[in-house]
Amino acid sequence: MAKHLCPTSSSRLTIDLGAIRDNYRLIAARIAPAMCSAVVKADAYGLGAARVAPMLRDAGCGIFFVAQLGEAIALREALGAGSEILILNGVDPGGERLCADHGLIPVLNSLSQVERWRTLARERGTALPAALQVDSGMSRLGLDARSVATLADDAAFTREVSLRLLMTHLACADAPGNSANEAQLARFALARARFPGVPASIANSGGSFLPEEFHCDVARPGIALYGVAPSALAEGLRPVATLAARVIQIREIEAGTGVGYGLDYIASERRRLATVGIGYADGWPRHLSNVGAVWHQGTRLPITGRVSMDSLTVDISALPDEALAEGDFVELLGPSQTLDDVAGEAGTIAYEILTQLGRRHERRYVDGAQICA
Ligand SMILES: *Cc1c(COP(=O)(O)O)cnc(C)c1O
Repeated sequence: MAKHLCPTSSSRLTIDLGAIRDNYRLIAARIAPAMCSAVVKADAYGLGAARVAPMLRDAGCGIFFVAQLGEAIALREALGAGSEILILNGVDPGGERLCADHGLIPVLNSLSQVERWRTLARERGTALPAALQVDSGMSRLGLDARSVATLADDAAFTREVSLRLLMTHLACADAPGNSANEAQLARFALARARFPGVPASIANSGGSFLPEEFHCDVARPGIALYGVAPSALAEGLRPVATLAARVIQIREIEAGTGVGYGLDYIASERRRLATVGIGYADGWPRHLSNVGAVWHQGTRLPITGRVSMDSLTVDISALPDEALAEGDFVELLGPSQTLDDVAGEAGTIAYEILTQLGRRHERRYVDGAQICA
């Protein structure tokens, strides 16, 4: 049972599983009759795949994507048999047996990945399931048009590999007006025509909010499940993660006093400061030195000086004297400050802030107002 006050951790990450469920349902309803899978790579974007994936399975999700074999094996443990687990990066050389033995489905991205999977199928004398990724313009992962044609014309390929999904990935799904999206859709249609009857998938979160022709048979949302709008078209997603950290010490400094490493902040007048128990080792970006803020009941408390490994210092002069005491929590992610706000100030994207949130936070899973065991 998660505790309300955990004295062993200076920060607390609260993850609303109910909000993830609602976001899943919102996307699933939007793309129906296409099926909605869930991307839970990188430990469900840092929020805990072992908690998130079983909840989504119970909400009706039958297909899960991770990036690597190790993640897929751990996810199989969490989900048990019955769910389809696909590995976006495919399998590195030598991992094929492990992949097949755990009933996992590799996304085959190159002819050599295809060849290694076929070799195992021939060895075992049975067709092995796989997805095939086509490069429709992003130049990251997937087969080019010529390799797609080669495989489509190879009768032995369809005997050795049981093709479950034909997929591609959009480079600009977060920019609904970008003509690259239509161009990728057109190139993907050519590949689909080569594999009639095989279910197709192109949409990530951003693609799920593009017009219907992008939804195909299966959508693969990630970030939207975790409450971040992938584009201006996405409305109604609920925030999932809130982060708070404790005040460790409060002090007053005189004009001219420096703060933190390098004395990068010099007070221009008398200030009240609070040192807060969270730092870059917890995933709070050092780029927020002298730039970002934390919040207390709607009041912005600017970061003074550099973010340290385990702490940062904020100016609390705007608060009444007794408003904050040692041990109190201040808000880092929540109603006053979103992931997108923080990412913008740190010069990055919400994905990076979320996936970097560290291992020291007390993690509390809730479902609305209910604390989960
Ligand atoms: C990460 C990833 C997704 C999910 O992307 P979001 O933008 O988080 O929705 C979908 N498909 C592929 C191939 C990915 O790598």
